[in-house]
Amino acid sequence: MARDTADTLRKGDVVSNESLANLLKEERRFAPPAELAAAANVTAEAYEQAKADRLGFWAEQARRLTWNTEPNETLDWSNPPFAKWFQDGTLNVAYNCVDRHVEAGNGDRVAIHFEGEPGDSRAITYAELKDEVSRAANALLELGVRQGDRVAVYMPMIPETAVAMLACARIGAAHSVVFGGFSADALATRIKDADAKVVITADGGWRRGKPSALKPAVDEALTKVDGVEHVLVVRRTAQDVDWTDGRDIWWHEITERQPAEHTPEAFEAEQPLFILYTSGTTGKPKGILHTSGGYLTQVAYTHHAVFDLKPETDVYWCTADVGWVTGHSYIVYGPLANGATQVMYEGTPDTPHQGRFWEIVQKYGVTILYTAPTVIRMFMKWGDDIPAKFDLSSLRVLGSVGEPINPEAWIWYRDRIGAGAKPVVDTWWQTETGAIMISPLPGVTETKPGSAQVPLPGIAATVVDDEGNEVPSGGGGYLVLTEPWPSMLRTIWGDDERFVDTYWSRFQGKYFAGDGAKKDDDGDIWLLGRVDDVMLVSGHNISTTEVESALVSHPKVAEAAVVGAADETTGQAIVAFVILRGSASEDEGLVDELRNHVGATLGPIAKPKRVLPVAELPKTRSGKIMRRLLRDVAENRDLGDVTTLTDAGVMDLIQAKLPSAR
Ligand code: ATP
Ligand code: MG
Repeated sequence: MARDTADTLRKGDVVSNESLANLLKEERRFAPPAELAAAANVTAEAYEQAKADRLGFWAEQARRLTWNTEPNETLDWSNPPFAKWFQDGTLNVAYNCVDRHVEAGNGDRVAIHFEGEPGDSRAITYAELKDEVSRAANALLELGVRQGDRVAVYMPMIPETAVAMLACARIGAAHSVVFGGFSADALATRIKDADAKVVITADGGWRRGKPSALKPAVDEALTKVDGVEHVLVVRRTAQDVDWTDGRDIWWHEITERQPAEHTPEAFEAEQPLFILYTSGTTGKPKGILHTSGGYLTQVAYTHHAVFDLKPETDVYWCTADVGWVTGHSYIVYGPLANGATQVMYEGTPDTPHQGRFWEIVQKYGVTILYTAPTVIRMFMKWGDDIPAKFDLSSLRVLGSVGEPINPEAWIWYRDRIGAGAKPVVDTWWQTETGAIMISPLPGVTETKPGSAQVPLPGIAATVVDDEGNEVPSGGGGYLVLTEPWPSMLRTIWGDDERFVDTYWSRFQGKYFAGDGAKKDDDGDIWLLGRVDDVMLVSGHNISTTEVESALVSHPKVAEAAVVGAADETTGQAIVAFVILRGSASEDEGLVDELRNHVGATLGPIAKPKRVLPVAELPKTRSGKIMRRLLRDVAENRDLGDVTTLTDAGVMDLIQAKLPSAR
């Protein structure tokens, strides 16, 4: 059964008094490129400034935004853990992301270079975006959507998705974006939980060379929930769609007849901006609530600082789906608040060929790329010759998010994509944190492969032991955030108690992130995977991440997932599932070779008891490995909740493997 982090901890079945063993030693270091450092948006001084006056620092960052009423009060923390940031200020989020750039004379700047999977493309300037968002806002008003209502967005990766989100923000309605790959059931649960009044969708989108449908899932979901008055449908693929008269409306029909003028209203800083459900890697997704002023302040600041964005010259590309928090904060709100020019790509990385991403980088001269370890490992598996065929020299900053990045994948990213010279920033954050929290700064930090390293200026993060005491350098334990931050979740939608329970009860006065972490001898932070995934072997807590990274550092392994399965003698035994690189074969000696490799890299305690080569690993739709399902398999249990899995068939293949290992 799926478990909450908090429940797991209460049961105490995974976490012991032993801190996480500190096994991996990674000695490689990379100084920031001198040229970047010399012109960097943010220098080392920012850390000092924020340390001297944390709230003053955030008050200054809030001035990046255009407020209708400037806030006087930075933080109200009188009722923790319920925070209010900039609460006496008012602003309009959509105005900040769109109109003000037009008013500043940058209306002709491209906001979005859209690249459709079939090869169609469209450049949308800030002036055009302003008209589209205004028309969409007027359309929503015509349909009766008002401040405080919720709108569900179930869309492919097309510009209308961003327009829909900004239109909601413009009129003070909260959006709830549901990833387009989710089933009708998952959509229905989320529509119901948020009590959405309108659903914005499309006939479908292009995936792997074919139109994939979205509208049928909405039709099915709406047989299961009440309260949705209208469905707005964007025409993208021209597939046939079923139509419910009176309820369904074509997006183009309603928006085309609206005026392109809409006066943005000022809302309070704590006006709800969106609800977004977590990925569901560990259990039942939680509806995370984000609000306006603090959220926009931190996404704008972090996008400026971590990616060193120069809006006049950079071309930024985040490959995430808008359905995830990364898409919300680093496709829609952060980049647009900063007036960036960005690429938005609709489809899959291997359509029509495995070089599609690199072709896009070359075509648009992408300078900043933000992607996920799962994507990087996939490219490693496909081979170095693919990116080598394209001109990637425009790139200057490379970002990673979503999972701990294995040092070998980090090095591959830097070498093969970044020509061995471009800085990699490994950014740690969560749906709940709203924005990046721990990351190197590309012009400041000497980077270490596999480490997110340092809390950003204004952010207080550390590693604590079981009792909540900060561990010294060299120690391991749990990642916590010790001070409130502007883009923090305000609650779990409709469930304050679960909010307090999940995040604020484990350690008094601290936010418990649910991730294991260690501090190296310099005090830098390394993420070690989820606490739910940590293995307890012969009384030692061992990190899944470190064992996986050791496996991935073997030349025959492309990807690895490691779990602890109940074992009579050792408490838990390490079971490793590995995907081999293209040419490697599953011969007799391989399993021993890999076990010994891990033993030699990390020490004998970390040697997996079993190593199972598999063809695929179970992943969430956002590309994260779902270790709890592998644990279910390894312990011969029925599988827990699989609704957020990309492909449920993967589990059958893995289960079929298992008898040989038992
Ligand atoms: P759920 O909370 O429902 O299980 P989820 O945690 O996968 O889902 P997200 O909010 O999308 O949902 O993911 C946040 C988590 O992703 C973090 O808690 C962490 O485990 C992992 N993560 C993200 N970025 C990094 C990173 N740079 N290094 C290590 N881990 C990361
Ligand atoms: Mg989580």
